[in-house]
Amino acid sequence: MRVGAEFAVTCSNGTAALHMAALALGLKAGDRVVVPSLTFLATANGPHHAGAEIVFADVNPDTGLMGPDELSEALDRADSGDGGPVRAAFPVHLNGQCGDLDAIEQLCADREIAVVYDAAHALGSHYRAGKANERRAIGDGRNGAMSTFSFHPVKTIAMGEGGAVTTNDSALADQLRKSRNHGMSRDTDQFENAIFAFDPNGAPNPWYYEMKEPGFNYRVSDINCALGLSQLKKLDRFVTRRRDLAAKYDELLQPLAPIVLPVSRNAACDSAWHLYVVMLDFAAAGTDRASVMRDLKDRGIGTMVHYLPVHQQPYYRSRYGALELPGAQGYYQRALSLPLYPAMKDSDVNRVVEALSDVLG
Ligand SMILES: *Cc1c(COP(=O)(O)O)cnc(C)c1O
Repeated sequence: MRVGAEFAVTCSNGTAALHMAALALGLKAGDRVVVPSLTFLATANGPHHAGAEIVFADVNPDTGLMGPDELSEALDRADSGDGGPVRAAFPVHLNGQCGDLDAIEQLCADREIAVVYDAAHALGSHYRAGKANERRAIGDGRNGAMSTFSFHPVKTIAMGEGGAVTTNDSALADQLRKSRNHGMSRDTDQFENAIFAFDPNGAPNPWYYEMKEPGFNYRVSDINCALGLSQLKKLDRFVTRRRDLAAKYDELLQPLAPIVLPVSRNAACDSAWHLYVVMLDFAAAGTDRASVMRDLKDRGIGTMVHYLPVHQQPYYRSRYGALELPGAQGYYQRALSLPLYPAMKDSDVNRVVEALSDVLG
């Protein structure tokens, strides 16, 4: 596997990857899972579809990441409320950056909570681990029980639609493959219905399979995989280009500080920059986000907001009640994603920054 994990189980998309990972943990209805609120819907929906209730954690308002403090606060809040045991945390490598993985994993190990990273933004990102500060690839199987990836067209590499879960745990990899394929198993050691499974001489019947838990059809097609494999060869080039473009933005945006600031950087992380997000003080600029986005669009520049805090979505709000998460709210209110893709030219970055500067007056 490209990121260095022992097992990579591919699947039809990143949402399926999150669902499969949640199923592989054996979550039961009512178990609880901590998910940062500042993420795409799928990070919460994956474990929720596996039966878990979601405890939304706050994030650092300047990075959008759930760090150990925010995770701790969510765990304490879960302890003081009703509900089943907290069984897992699903931190998100937002924008390709990671938080303090050592601290998060220590906290979870102390409470015997599994960690699954939503690494949809972080293919090609690296983190620094341990006292030796060893540089390791995100999703290498040594961070968390599992990491999930998406290969949707907007992500770092595309395969039409696609996803994967990486892990170093062969039992989890088995579970992942089973839930990808209807829950079917052809593992003769595990057959329960011996009378159907084996002939009178004890040889396994060649057509036979068993299902112990119903699974899904989350397989990805060969055609998508062929595209994914060819894209994977270009990963280093894509990541280098994304990093160069992000550095160029950082430099050109300096005169717009403090109205416009790049998201804060975590020194323990070498991000592949899936997104280039700025924190924009719209009020101080005497404007609002919708006007800025419309004015940029009129100049041919598409921008987006990643993401609306998930705890405020009507479904989760009505399920869990109103929740104040000021970090997520603060990040959301200031966030604007500027264009970033490997085919962008340096001159395009100039054009975006000039247009932004012009729009903000
Ligand atoms: C894209 C994305 C997903 C879902 O991936 P799909 O392949 O679109 O299903 C999940 N989490 C995050 C953070 C994402 O950006």
